[in-house]
Amino acid sequence: MLENFDLTGKVALVTGGTRGLGQSMAKALGQAGAAVIVTGRSDKTIEESCSYLKENGITAYGFRCDMQQSADLKALKQYVVEKFCRLDILVNNAGIVIDRHYAECTDEEINEIISTNLVGVMKCTRVLGEMMIKQGNGKIVNIASMDGIIGTPRLVAYGTSKGGVIQFTRGLAVEWARYGIHVNAICPGYFATSINERVLAEESIRTKILKRIPLRRVGKPEELGPLVVYLSSKASDFMTGQAIVIDGGETVH
Ligand code: NDP
Repeated sequence: MLENFDLTGKVALVTGGTRGLGQSMAKALGQAGAAVIVTGRSDKTIEESCSYLKENGITAYGFRCDMQQSADLKALKQYVVEKFCRLDILVNNAGIVIDRHYAECTDEEINEIISTNLVGVMKCTRVLGEMMIKQGNGKIVNIASMDGIIGTPRLVAYGTSKGGVIQFTRGLAVEWARYGIHVNAICPGYFATSINERVLAEESIRTKILKRIPLRRVGKPEELGPLVVYLSSKASDFMTGQAIVIDGGETVH
């Protein structure tokens, strides 16, 4: 049964793999046997992340790619084609947050968040998914958010982008099932990463957040690892189009 989780010989790409959840998921996929490519916007952070992954025994590669730039996405595909000739797993993780009262958001901020978190995921999947269509198989895991399901003040634009990712997941799962491609989403609640640093550092906000979470703590990035491995492996071959929430129970009540 456990051999179904084995990713030996697979090629996985994690966007936004330079830190936080992306780096942690890249590590988990690597530990399950996959060769992992991580992307980000700066050569320095990519190099640092690859070194960290290699120190942990993982076969890691890095490529600079801004999710907002179509030319970068095309160059990324070219790199994957030339270096590996295939792509088995795509984790669309790169994302940003804008934590602000919606009435105060600027047009630029709204454009930036939709273009990174939603349009970036859609374009990246179309460009890299071509390889999976040709192969006749593939696993796509989109990192959405619990805020794409529930309404959260100050995260209206963010939640809208993530709600779009969930709907994209459902539609694509149905359309690409014929190519043997599985598409699922993960909807994390609060995890301790730099994206939440400011809110979690403020004692009063932290206390309020923890009160809402039945398990009374935020998630550790490594706690996403087993789920992403499951969704990237043979073990999940009868699952597609799902959005799985992992939030310490926050959205249950
Ligand atoms: P971090 O801020 O720690 O990491 C974000 C990653 O995304 C970095 O690797 C960053 O790379 C990359 N990134 C951001 N913008 C772009 C861009 N335009 N092009 C390419 N890469 C980009 O965030 P987390 O690890 O916390 O979040 C990862 C994902 O998980 C996000 O999509 C987030 O919305 C989602 N999520 C996180 C939750 C949490 O509690 N942490 C909860 C719910 C969802 P670099 O800056 O090096 O370019």
